[in-house]
Amino acid sequence: MPDRFFAMVGTHVTALPDRSLIEAPAVDAVVRGEQDFVVRDLANALGNGKDLSKVRGLSYRNGDKPQAKYRMNILEDGSKEGNGIKHNLDMPWITGEELDKMKFSSEVYSRHLNIEDYFYPSVLYPEVTIITSRGCYYRCTFCKFPQTITGHEGRTRSVKNIVDEFQWITDNLPQVKDIMIEDDTMTQDRKRIMEICDEIKNRHLNVTWTCNARADIDYDVLKNMKQAGCREVCVGFESASQEILNNIRKGTKVEKIRQFAKDTKKAGVLVHGCFMLGNMGETKETIKQTIDFAKELDPDTAQFFPLMLYPGTEAYKWADQNGFLTSTNWSDWLKMDGTHNTNLSTDKLTAKELVEGCDRGRVEFYMRPTYIGRKVFQGLTNPREFPRLFKSGKTFFKYLKEHVHNRINSDFWTKPSQVGNAEF
Ligand code: SF4
Repeated sequence: MPDRFFAMVGTHVTALPDRSLIEAPAVDAVVRGEQDFVVRDLANALGNGKDLSKVRGLSYRNGDKPQAKYRMNILEDGSKEGNGIKHNLDMPWITGEELDKMKFSSEVYSRHLNIEDYFYPSVLYPEVTIITSRGCYYRCTFCKFPQTITGHEGRTRSVKNIVDEFQWITDNLPQVKDIMIEDDTMTQDRKRIMEICDEIKNRHLNVTWTCNARADIDYDVLKNMKQAGCREVCVGFESASQEILNNIRKGTKVEKIRQFAKDTKKAGVLVHGCFMLGNMGETKETIKQTIDFAKELDPDTAQFFPLMLYPGTEAYKWADQNGFLTSTNWSDWLKMDGTHNTNLSTDKLTAKELVEGCDRGRVEFYMRPTYIGRKVFQGLTNPREFPRLFKSGKTFFKYLKEHVHNRINSDFWTKPSQVGNAEF
């Protein structure tokens, strides 16, 4: 068994296994796709001194130093090999039954992590994050997990198994104030979400939870979710422009989004709304429409980010083929503090303008007197929301002070785009 063996997992290396191994000589292998069983099999093979060629889902070094350009040979079993890298066969998708047999992630956290060390701005503190399904039926062009790791065929844990984990958290982690369900989207199957809510209610569980959702849930589902403890849904509204929503294959209509925003308010479910700038068709005009739309929908919290391009996604391909990537050197993609750099500059908007558009969105959304008044009221009348509001508010004002004041120009809307004079 070697002294040490480094393997990387995740969306980036799944999309670019060769390039990752070429660019990171210290890494011995990359795991493609869902890592659960691949990592298990890799550990068993290493521990028992077996060769790695049977570990499905693994790409690893098996010879000379790989070069940037080389030919891959297809071997008899279908795996591929060339120039010092071997790509084993893919690991089959994990099934719903297999997900049910896995340990609860909350139980694993409780043994190895201090959950108080983690803060998620739109979720009550402290929270614990779990997953109830993998994959998403939809095909949004920018969305990285379904296009690289989780796929488009939903695989779900059973209702009993999910609610057993809720129960386990209630019994064993009394400090947890919110359960964040980080499925790609939890509400894509109406029947399933209704059954989960009914089971929570049947067991009289006093739980609070938050999930990723789509803006196409109807009022009856939202009402049932609220009754079962759902506090907030995190929703990708993305844009006010129907043309852009169509371009990114979001599968929603602007009018449906408006109805959804009304229904969530009626049901008493909070919304964290996500808005994205820079998709195909974006101009200053559509940015303005999107910021106005955010204020009209008026979710509890909102985020504005430039489109992030991830290898393996259609959006990345679109940007690459049109020469819109500002760099393909990955070290330019992240800042020293771990946050993203904007790596997109289109034929209509520069990276700088996209960042400025997002800052304008944040300022216009959060600095409304009515919004501030509502938040103060919420914090004073709802003690469980206070720690989250205080912490997020502090972070927001620090960000405003450090970054935004020198980026917002009063002539942003009227000045023509600086495409062609771009500074990155
Ligand atoms: S953005 Fe949401 S709905 Fe679209 S593919 Fe991703 S998870 Fe699915």
